Amino acid sequence: MISIKNVRKIFSTKQGLLKAVDEVNLDIKEGEIFGVIGYSGAGKSTLIRMLNGLELPTDGTVNVAGREISKIKGAELRKARQEISMIFQHFNLLWSRTVSENIAFPLEIAGVSAPERKKRVEELIKLVGLEGRGDAYPSQLSGGQKQRVGIARALANNPKVLLCDEATSALDPQTTDSILDLLVDINKKFGLTIVLITHEMHVIRKICHRVAVMESGRIVELGPVLDVFKNPQQPITKRFVQQVT
Ligand code: ATP
Ligand code: MG
Repeated sequence: MISIKNVRKIFSTKQGLLKAVDEVNLDIKEGEIFGVIGYSGAGKSTLIRMLNGLELPTDGTVNVAGREISKIKGAELRKARQEISMIFQHFNLLWSRTVSENIAFPLEIAGVSAPERKKRVEELIKLVGLEGRGDAYPSQLSGGQKQRVGIARALANNPKVLLCDEATSALDPQTTDSILDLLVDINKKFGLTIVLITHEMHVIRKICHRVAVMESGRIVELGPVLDVFKNPQQPITKRFVQQVT
């Protein structure tokens, strides 16, 4: 489903060139929940943003759902992005729109008719457990509810891949768990491939099938979550594992 080959991303900054992602190779299978963990600045967001064309790699190729994301642009890239949606730490909702209007937004952009939109929004509200809150504004919701709106909006156009950039980092542990349960539910129901970035090993352990550990732009360890927990190889991985044991 996702194939990243020899990818590097170099930013030029006032201090000089900065290697944010360095020689990353990674294959993620269809239906997999794949976790990427690393400390701040490791390159996690840069890597995930290359999966939907928000960043272009300096070198290498990124293929998602049969498309060379790193090579396409314009209308083709917009079409691809309907299949590769994303949720964020701070939800990125439209604050002047209601819950229903937020969820309908990507459907409007995709040219879905008003009656179809209404039906789809109702289904999505139910799916994420926000029945009765369609007319509320984001400011009237809890953090967990806001992320539910983010998830519903991300799923509106039936994507094949859901990218989650620290999607639970602004939430308390209990709310984090309920959002993770929802992601597992969606993964099972629709076979959706999920790529999740976090700095919390608890999140990885709870829902991921495999995990990659990133340090200074590189993947330093990769494997099934159970194996990595049982037998971490790198010092950084050992530190992450100690977080939760
Ligand atoms: P965090 O956990 O804090 O979100 P991260 O692992 O997501 O960190 P990135 O945001 O990918 O890390 O950043 C990796 C490196 O690239 C950092 O040194 C960052 O300052 C740098 N960087 C990211 N985006 C840009 C940009 N647009 N221009 C210049 N440097 C950037
Ligand atoms: Mg980040």
